[in-house]
Amino acid sequence: MMAHATFTPEGQITESFRLLSGHKIPAVGLGTWRSGSQATHAVFTALVEGGYRHIDTAWEYGDQKEVGEGIKRAMHAGIERRDLFVTSKLWCTELSPERVRPTLQITLQELQLEYLDLYLIHWPFRLSEGASKPPKEGDVFDFDMEGVWREMEKLAKDELVRDIGVCNFTITKLNKLLAVAELIPSVCQIEMHPGWRNDQMLQFCKINGIHVTAYSPLGSQEGGRYLIHDQTVDRIAKKLNKTPGQVLVKWGLQRGTSVIPKSLNPERIKENIKVFDWVIPEQDFQALSSITDQKRVMDSEDIFVNKIEGPLRSVADIWDQED
Ligand code: NDP
Repeated sequence: MMAHATFTPEGQITESFRLLSGHKIPAVGLGTWRSGSQATHAVFTALVEGGYRHIDTAWEYGDQKEVGEGIKRAMHAGIERRDLFVTSKLWCTELSPERVRPTLQITLQELQLEYLDLYLIHWPFRLSEGASKPPKEGDVFDFDMEGVWREMEKLAKDELVRDIGVCNFTITKLNKLLAVAELIPSVCQIEMHPGWRNDQMLQFCKINGIHVTAYSPLGSQEGGRYLIHDQTVDRIAKKLNKTPGQVLVKWGLQRGTSVIPKSLNPERIKENIKVFDWVIPEQDFQALSSITDQKRVMDSEDIFVNKIEGPLRSVADIWDQED
């Protein structure tokens, strides 16, 4: 899937990818996890000063009202809703067919929007209301994939969401979904950065026409694998006269994925999207793609694994033993 270059009204070059539905997803979006009350300012800065048109949020982040306020202020400043791409996600406690539509309605209300551009299943497991961390017996369940997906499809047919997709699926789960889907998921959002390339998943999605959005593209921070200080990244950034953040974002774009770095810092927000008028040369791209010690940051053991009671007894169980 090729990226298409265009210009924003401010004359800034920008890129997007074409989804199976025909809609376009802007190549760089602002992540908003752990943004809290500062999300309003971050979103406004990104949209009005940074030239972003893509915002990623989720009900579970607890910041949809703040994100919505930032979008509203940006629209008052002249940005048009039809030029924006807003993503949110259906959380695990709501992962049953009858909860899909009411939960989307809450999300739309919180965001003060009439439709979403993309609605994603956040994780492929259902959690009980008030599930503890780590989960106790009876907190984690399989979910009714076909039933939930039918409801997601109805949201798209009713134009409450323009595209639907999934996060944190494995190849096994995507195959299961593809076998029952009338509407193929447009997007799979999953962790990807040079410290966790996730090549097999990317390949599978490409073959099936599913666009990939790379989350935690900088390796995340708290408890993550912050790649900003990685030696290879730093060396290539210096050589190209770019920042490590820009190199990490660009690496994702050159792999054909959209990328959603999170920042609350106005300078870093603006820096992370200045990635469209240069390329990482092949040799450096290969060096970034050869970083050893591949390890996912977001293994989510604390949310889903109960070693004794199951049903997921290990991180490998979450990921269907595919890693
Ligand atoms: P990122 O990989 O985007 O890293 C964010 C961290 O990097 C922050 O601490 C930020 O600090 C810092 N940072 C940002 N830009 C720069 C820069 N240019 N130079 C140095 N440091 C920088 O982490 P996330 O885990 O937040 O992932 C991004 C987004 O992906 C999330 O916010 C969320 O929207 C989505 N996501 C989705 C998941 C899912 O299950 N679907 C799971 C995880 C994430 P500061 O704010 O101070 O700049």
